[in-house]
Amino acid sequence: MANDNIKIPLSGMLPNEILSAVNPDKSYRANQIFKAIHSNITDFNLITNLPAALIKNLNDNFTITGSSINNILRDTNSGKLSITLYDKNVIECVLLSDLNGRKTACLSTQAGCAMGCLFCKTGDNGFSRNLSSSEIVDQLIFLEKEFGEISNIVFMGMGEPLDNIEALFKAADILNNKEGKGISYRRMTVSTCGLADKIEYMADNGKPMRLAVSLNCANQEKREKIMPVAKKFDVNKLRESLLYYQSKKNKRITLEYVLIKEFNTNKEDVKYLKDFILGLSVNINVIPWNPAEGLDFQTPSQKEIDTFLNLLIANQIPYTVRHRKAQKIRGACGQLSSEAYG
Ligand code: SAH
Ligand code: SF4
Repeated sequence: MANDNIKIPLSGMLPNEILSAVNPDKSYRANQIFKAIHSNITDFNLITNLPAALIKNLNDNFTITGSSINNILRDTNSGKLSITLYDKNVIECVLLSDLNGRKTACLSTQAGCAMGCLFCKTGDNGFSRNLSSSEIVDQLIFLEKEFGEISNIVFMGMGEPLDNIEALFKAADILNNKEGKGISYRRMTVSTCGLADKIEYMADNGKPMRLAVSLNCANQEKREKIMPVAKKFDVNKLRESLLYYQSKKNKRITLEYVLIKEFNTNKEDVKYLKDFILGLSVNINVIPWNPAEGLDFQTPSQKEIDTFLNLLIANQIPYTVRHRKAQKIRGACGQLSSEAYG
């Protein structure tokens, strides 16, 4: 049981863990508590089907969420929350709505990121620490509270999800649980910069979540220049891990490709890409680089983007272009940071 000062957040626990932590009078109470938390109640006193003694225990020793919202930005089809963690670290998460009103949450898995990709604002800010499962789940709870029901999740916010894989899996299990939000694993996507060993681990142990890999460049020398992780897992190793993943999971993989002006947009780059995807079932998600303060890259012109897309078409490489949702509120890919507001 918790002591007087430190209250334990329950948002990061599955029903059986709530049962052991809270030790209620009847075991089915754990489900009632879990259900209430994931129907976004804000106060234990509002759980009307629990006995008074249990509510007192909850109020004395536990909290629902462990973090708090410090700022909310809203735009037409998007929103961004800045969240303060218990230790004053600040993270961000984003809400994106599509034309049919379907809402996707883009969640962070770390405060900062240790991977240091040169084109990314999060990487530029450095690494602070891993998030707990509770801090990952809190983001979804807060986004639903502010923007309404969410149907899809992308683990593509701040941080490298596979560098915090246990908390990631736990959060996914909680958000998938039928007693709570019941979001199908198939509506969750994990985006990685290419940790090949963890991709293989996911192939063997992971839930049926979708996989997205930030390839950005299929030429080893060039990739190393913008993504230090490529020195640890080179493009061949990465490719092998994807072949292995696909042999186990049989799922189409998204390859994210951030288009950087005069860097990875020419014929030669597409040739490397074509070789890389040989034998893989993929879709290329083209993301024109989003400007971020202090980073020395440029967004390609529309002409340069169109030329690149035409090369993909000529090579029969399937692609989609990620539109710049949330750019106005600095919530687009690569723009999230840990700067506090106000
Ligand atoms: N760490 C994970 C997930 C977070 S980054 C990963 O790297 O996949 C999410 C996506 O944003 C990645 O595809 C990354 O390549 C992209 N990204 C980073 N900075 C960007 C920028 N400035 N403009 C556009 N996309 C960017
Ligand atoms: Fe980290 Fe992803 Fe940004 Fe690279 S692109 S620094 S892995 S958040």
